[in-house]
Amino acid sequence: MRNHKVYLIGAGPGRADMITVRGLKILQQADVIIHDYLVDKAALEGLKPGAEIISSERYGKKACHGRSGQAQKKINDLMVKMAKDGRHVARLKNGDTSIFSRISEEIEALEKNKIEFEIVPGVTAASAASSFTGVPLTDRRYSSNVVFVTGHENPDKGIKIDWRRIAGMDTIALYMSSGDISDIAWKLIRSGRPETTAVLAVSNAGAVNQKTAIAALGSIADTVQKNAIKAPAIFIIGKTAGLEKRYNWLRKNRRILFTGLSGERFFLKGTYFHLPLIRIEPLEDYSGFDRYLKNIKMFDWIVFSSRFGVEYFFKRLKELGLDARILNNIKIAAIGNCTSERLLDFTISADLVPKKESSKGLIDEFRELDIKAKKIFLPRSDISDKGLEKEFEKLGAKVTSSFAYRNVMAEGLPDLDLNFFNEIMFTSPSGVRNFIKRYGKPPKKIKISCIGDVTKKEAEKAAIQLS
Ligand code: SAH
Repeated sequence: MRNHKVYLIGAGPGRADMITVRGLKILQQADVIIHDYLVDKAALEGLKPGAEIISSERYGKKACHGRSGQAQKKINDLMVKMAKDGRHVARLKNGDTSIFSRISEEIEALEKNKIEFEIVPGVTAASAASSFTGVPLTDRRYSSNVVFVTGHENPDKGIKIDWRRIAGMDTIALYMSSGDISDIAWKLIRSGRPETTAVLAVSNAGAVNQKTAIAALGSIADTVQKNAIKAPAIFIIGKTAGLEKRYNWLRKNRRILFTGLSGERFFLKGTYFHLPLIRIEPLEDYSGFDRYLKNIKMFDWIVFSSRFGVEYFFKRLKELGLDARILNNIKIAAIGNCTSERLLDFTISADLVPKKESSKGLIDEFRELDIKAKKIFLPRSDISDKGLEKEFEKLGAKVTSSFAYRNVMAEGLPDLDLNFFNEIMFTSPSGVRNFIKRYGKPPKKIKISCIGDVTKKEAEKAAIQLS
């Protein structure tokens, strides 16, 4: 029995974790994900192994209002075909599914083909812009209504925006307008909205490169140009926008850019922006690594220096049809809490976790043990240095180091205004190197903090001011 079902899911705007819990759960079970261009690519991690990811970009222009009828039709056809093939399809749309998203065309295609579907709501750009600037869309003192308007009229289809009616609303949330804001502001003023009305412009709401600007309706076009506010951007027009100065928590808080891979640390002091600078990938060829795994019993110690080493070690072990029992006579060491905790997930409680979370800390503790002629296996990344290996050899051990995964530079890193941040936090030497490669040295006034000695050393080598 074939399963004809498509989920139309709102991904929210700007950042991967704006999706609802329900949306995420469905996404993780999908066989095929057809996503909009604006969807944060980080939302596409942690999917079912083998899930196919298709960007709607493949079928036409980038912005959703620019998608041609032809491109939309191709997306509809693809959705229908995939569902008819019996695959679980998730159609991941930017923001909310029902706001300026051409969902009706997709629903009609599914309905015509008698394909079951379900809609999962998402956070719309206006809500995100409102939350990430502190500006409410309604306020019992000044605004009892809010209207969502597109600045992109479609006169061919007979839709003409009645700006007089719009101008009379308390709060106006203007989508798809960054290119035409001068014209639209003028239309609103001509329709009776005072030139002094407060306007908040937010581009990339929720994202690490979010930009905001505030101006009066009469001068918003100049402000947008001066501040280079570009699409995707949204405008909140009305009295509540005037609250930005007092309510914008992001401007008031300490802003920390966290460049490591681990997720955001909620409730830590300082607002976190998460921008992973590295990506961990499997090797193309595991034949060398697997050979060691098959003969793992010959080793006395396995030393894990990162949680990725642990993850790929056990992934390969499973792939080879082996399990943790094969390790019962082998001692295990782990550098760092993350690494030892990951080991616990595989029910392995490490024999040695150095108090000091570094290679040096590990060697200091191994020095207390007799490891002369002992055989040590080191599952490592493709870019790790030979420091640890050499230190073990100095202690008389026989070290076998083998790549378990690749550490590559993250792709699609956005342009950033570094001055926006008070602090940048690095967690690995490769993170430091990738940052410099992409953004150059950070401005001197920004505090730099490093987790671990090697990271600090790399930052010093790059002559980054450490405060
Ligand atoms: N369905 C989406 C809107 C898609 S139309 C939603 O509910 O938000 C695309 C428009 O949405 C853009 O032109 C812009 O006006 C707005 N938009 C989408 N993502 C945005 C973001 N991160 N920041 C500001 N505006 C955004």
